[in-house]
Amino acid sequence: MQKIAIDLYTNLSVNISKKMVTAYCVKDKKVVEIKNPVEVTLKNGRPAVKGTCPHCGGTVFRIGKLKK
Ligand SMILES: [Zn+2]
Repeated sequence: MQKIAIDLYTNLSVNISKKMVTAYCVKDKKVVEIKNPVEVTLKNGRPAVKGTCPHCGGTVFRIGKLKK
């Protein structure tokens, strides 16, 4: 029973990672996958996604909602 739960959790994690959000990293000068993306709302009420660059560890940012 517990093993099934772990397998389900693993599959879920894989599905999430396949839908990773990308953003342009100004330090790497290329589009990267956002690590630990968090949905935030800008001052003007627009949705945005903030996270960490997997290459340089800097903060990356994009306008738009986190795709689920
Ligand atoms: Zn970077």
